[in-house]
Amino acid sequence: MELVKTIAELRGAVDDHRRAGRSIGLVPTMGFLHRGHLSLVVASASANDITVTTIFVNPLQFAPDEDLDAYPRDPEGDAEKAAAAGSDYLFLPEPAEMYPEESLTTVTVAALSAGYEGESRPTHFAGVSTVVAKLFNIVGPCRAYFGEKDYQQLMIVRRMARDLDFRVEVIGCPTCREADGLALSSRNKYLRDPERSAAPVLHRALEAGAHAIRGGEADPAKVRNLMAQMVREEPLARLDYVDVVDSRTLEPVAVCDESNRLIGAAYFGRARLIDNMAVRR
Ligand code: AMP
Repeated sequence: MELVKTIAELRGAVDDHRRAGRSIGLVPTMGFLHRGHLSLVVASASANDITVTTIFVNPLQFAPDEDLDAYPRDPEGDAEKAAAAGSDYLFLPEPAEMYPEESLTTVTVAALSAGYEGESRPTHFAGVSTVVAKLFNIVGPCRAYFGEKDYQQLMIVRRMARDLDFRVEVIGCPTCREADGLALSSRNKYLRDPERSAAPVLHRALEAGAHAIRGGEADPAKVRNLMAQMVREEPLARLDYVDVVDSRTLEPVAVCDESNRLIGAAYFGRARLIDNMAVRR
């Protein structure tokens, strides 16, 4: 695997491969790679000739009071893991390479960015859409792999690619979990032991909501209350939101059905964790 630090170098390498007729897969991440990230690398490597993994802790998507400086990093470990999973290039730009001057241009995907994570983190998705647009322009036509773990982000990126005619096929990959249901996340590192034991309650609450809808519960308020109650019963959890949404528009539903998506966020100590799942098994 080749380590690349500059946009020009990455562009040159990828353009050469494309000219030689090779397909390109792109896996954007913020690093501190775990099995969830690596499942995206494996998916890309199995469907494309060349896989580019990117690691960039994007300052634009962190609010001033968030964990930009504390965000866990392990570039050497990441390089080993990405190579073993089948990545051909690891793009590790410095912030000054990505933002040589203040970016006056931002990409905003309206409506989809407004609720839930967008409400709790008002500047977050503009930061995400903007850096992903830059990566799409740097890498060029490709398949890009994103986790369903960040479901709202996946919907936003997919819509951005469509709205702005990027020659990028956005592919969603299933969430990798620990044995007790906790979704893998770099932020799980912030959990102290008792919080780690408490954290799967978010997944269990979503499961209970899905089970209720599959059993015929059609009232979203009832499903929401059921899920919220479960999270609130865990003393180490502080609920942010849980809801039943349309799986494409992310609007809250008036009547539940099996096509819906359940989403939630909660704090466990200083870790803010998110999760989601389809109602239909
Ligand atoms: P991040 O480094 O958190 O920005 O994540 C980079 C990519 O990995 C995003 O597309 C995430 O949705 C995806 N990802 C993160 N955690 C998981 C997981 N547990 N399972 C599958 N994909 C994940």
